[in-house]
Amino acid sequence: MSSRVSIVKAGSYDFDRVYAAVKKAVGLLGGISDFVEKGEKILLKPNLLSARPPESGVDTHPEVLRAVARLVRETGAEVIVGDSPGGLGFKTAGSTYGESGIKRVCEEEGIRLVDFDKAQNIKGMPISACVGEVDGIISIPKMKTHDLMTLTGAIKNSYGLAVGHFKADCHLKAPRPDEFAKLVVDVFETAIPRLVVMDGITAMEGNGPAAGQLRNAGLVIASNDCVACDAVFADLVGLEPLRIEMTAEAYRRKLGEADLSKIEVLGESLKDAKLHDFKLPEMSVVRKIPRPVFKLLAKAIKFFPRINDKICKKCRICEKSCPAQCITIEEEGSRIDYRRCIKCFCCHELCPYDAISIRRSLLAKIIR
Ligand code: SF4
Ligand code: SF4
Repeated sequence: MSSRVSIVKAGSYDFDRVYAAVKKAVGLLGGISDFVEKGEKILLKPNLLSARPPESGVDTHPEVLRAVARLVRETGAEVIVGDSPGGLGFKTAGSTYGESGIKRVCEEEGIRLVDFDKAQNIKGMPISACVGEVDGIISIPKMKTHDLMTLTGAIKNSYGLAVGHFKADCHLKAPRPDEFAKLVVDVFETAIPRLVVMDGITAMEGNGPAAGQLRNAGLVIASNDCVACDAVFADLVGLEPLRIEMTAEAYRRKLGEADLSKIEVLGESLKDAKLHDFKLPEMSVVRKIPRPVFKLLAKAIKFFPRINDKICKKCRICEKSCPAQCITIEEEGSRIDYRRCIKCFCCHELCPYDAISIRRSLLAKIIR
C-alpha cells in the first residue's frame, strides 16, 4: 500500500464548505468507494476530549463529522459514532457528546451514537466492544498540540478506543513520553483505521490539547495511512516527524510511513500549506536539548501543574481523574501532592475551566 496524504484548504465550518473540502480530500485519495463498500458498518471515531462547545477547538468539530458521515452513507454503508472522552469517575461521554455538538449532529442525521462502556479484551487491553461490531473505522482527529506528546493527531485519536481506567493506568505505568507512546501505539495497532480525515480547519497551538490558542489553519487532511497523516502534520508545523514519539514508534513497527520522501502528497503542497511559527507546548522545549545534556539537567528542568483557586469551580474532575490520586479539592483550597505527581498533565487537559496551568522551574524558564 502506498501512503497518500491529501491536503485541502477549507475556510470555515460552514457545512457546504466543509463537505466540499472533505469530499475533495477523500477524492484525491481515490474517492470514498475505495475505502467503504455498500452494506458495511463503519465506526466514525472523532477526537472528543471533554465537554466543550465546538468553538473551543478542543474536540473534533461536529460539521466535519457530519461531512464524513454523509460521504460514507452515500456509498450505502451504515455509520455509527463513538468515543471514550477523558475523565475518570464521571460519565463524561454524555456531557461531552452534548456540549461538543456531536449528539445534535447525530440526531439530525439519524446516526447511532454509542457509548464505549463495554470492552473486549484484545492483547490484554480493554478495547471498545464496538470495534468488534463494525467492518472498519474512520478516524476523525483534531489538529492540536499536546503538552506531554507535543502533537496529537491520528495515532493518538485511536487511544480513545480503550475503555475505562486503562488509559489513566497507562500514565502511571509509563510516565515518560517515549514509554507512553508505546502504549498508545499498542492500542492503535489493535484496530488501525482504514481512513483518516483530520479536522485542521481551526487547529490548536501552544499548550494543547485543551488550553492552547486557536489558530485558523484552514486545512482538511485525509490519508489512507494514519502514520503518514501524522508525519505530514508534524512537517506542516515545522517538526521532524520522527521526533514525535508515537509516529516514530508506529513507523518502527511498520504500521505506516513516516518518511516524507515516500509519502505521496496530493492537493496543496507541503510548502504551500505550511503553518509558519506554529507555537508548540512549553514543555516541548526539552526536545531542543541534546539527550546527554538533558540527562544532566533533568532534575533542574521541571514542569508541574498548579491549580488556580480563583478560577477553580470545585467540579472535582481533576481529583477523580488523576492517575496518581494526588489532587485534593477542598472548599478552602486545593492541593497537589508533588511527591506523588507523575507529571502526566491529565489534570491540565481535563479541567473544563482552564484552572490548572503548567508552571516551570527557573531553568525551564531560561531555556524557553
Ligand atoms: S481545577 Fe478544574 S477540574 Fe479541578 S476541581 Fe477545579 S475546576 Fe474542576
Ligand atoms: S496532579 Fe495532574 S500531572 Fe500530577 S499526576 Fe495528577 S493528573 Fe497527572
